[in-house]
Amino acid sequence: MDSELIIQGGLLVYPEKTIPADIVISGGKISRLLPPGSAEGGEKLDASGLYILPGLIDPHSHPVYLDDIQATSRTAAFGGVTCSVHYAYAKPGNKLAETIRDFRKNGEAASYTDFAVHGGLFETLKQADEIPECFGMGVTSYKVFMAYAKLGWMTDDYAMAKVMDIVGGLGGMVAVHAETGLAIDYIMDTLLAEQVDFKEKFLETSPDVAEAEGIFRAVSIGRLFDCPVYIPHISSKEGVDVLRFLKGKGVKVYGETCPQYLALTWDELKQSGPLGKVGPSIKTEGDRKALWTAVGGGLFDTLGSDHAPKAKKVSDDFFKAPYGSPEVETMLPVVWQYGVNAGLVTPNTLVELMAENPAKIMGIYPRKGRMEPGADADLVLFDPSESWTVFPGNQHTHAEYTLFEGKRLTGRVKKVLAKGKILVDGDTFYGTPGNADYLPTDAGRL
Ligand SMILES: [Zn+2]
Repeated sequence: MDSELIIQGGLLVYPEKTIPADIVISGGKISRLLPPGSAEGGEKLDASGLYILPGLIDPHSHPVYLDDIQATSRTAAFGGVTCSVHYAYAKPGNKLAETIRDFRKNGEAASYTDFAVHGGLFETLKQADEIPECFGMGVTSYKVFMAYAKLGWMTDDYAMAKVMDIVGGLGGMVAVHAETGLAIDYIMDTLLAEQVDFKEKFLETSPDVAEAEGIFRAVSIGRLFDCPVYIPHISSKEGVDVLRFLKGKGVKVYGETCPQYLALTWDELKQSGPLGKVGPSIKTEGDRKALWTAVGGGLFDTLGSDHAPKAKKVSDDFFKAPYGSPEVETMLPVVWQYGVNAGLVTPNTLVELMAENPAKIMGIYPRKGRMEPGADADLVLFDPSESWTVFPGNQHTHAEYTLFEGKRLTGRVKKVLAKGKILVDGDTFYGTPGNADYLPTDAGRL
């Protein structure tokens, strides 16, 4: 039998409570929770002065750019994320089932942490026929795009109806990048003809109204086929208003926002040009405030990172630069700073949105997402009093930039355990690939 590990002195954070307790770990699982100071024997880990959170679950990850699945799991672990749900994008010409199979094989060989997979469809009419086969592989959530028509990524309403009919019938969930694609392409073409500086016009190319329209249309098509819809990366007050309206009607829709929308505005980011180009755009102070109001008011279900670091420089052509940024490692300390330290939310709310809810929505609960006996011992030891400054050199992504460069944050991840083993201890990483489990999902259950 494995020897036991006992974590003592910490404050355990749950959605509904914060309690001192000893955590006893054995065989990679939490075996017991005991009154503080009462656990005997075993190896001891002192967590005095620290919060203990369940390992975070990132429901929105793209490990196919500067950070592959191994690098993503490493930078994620430094941010307290011990389980990622990756988007397996079947680009035009590719088979969905094969793409998912490759993701699984890759992850099992290379990832440091457990993971699950969403399917992503780009030739939706054709690829949707593979969905039943993919359900058999444990993939129950699928993503389509309403935007990026010119890139050939857009799913039109006919194809959206088909994917939601199939997925709804099988009891899964569809995630939709909700922005009115064709209208945005028209706006882009007009601006191109006018030879504008795209950096100055960025918000016009990813408008709040387009997000609101996309959310309403996607969720409405889902309702026609009894298919729960998950809206990733909601970025605007207009988007929040529509989400509130739909939830108010009792419609089954999940809303996600991301740290970049909660912490930054395009006004302050503009000077870093292409680095801050993400889709949807990071918008205004009014939008940022509305997003926090919604988080505090319980409207959002999850926070996701949308980690997608791309190779780009401040001096690159803004129009040609790709969308995406490194996010997963900064996610927790950033939302702690702008949410908890700003007095807008409690640590409990963050645990709900970053661990328990994503686990429930993906159907990997209670193995993941909550600190209870029998769950995987995935834990984050977090020091709420340590202040530090973000700069590229203290990040573990392969990107050479971060949108939070120079930000002073109070609250830092100190240690991370995955399945009972220390993965991160300060600056030191102890991961070994090959221990990651692929997690079949059962999405849309919350
Ligand atoms: Zn994304």
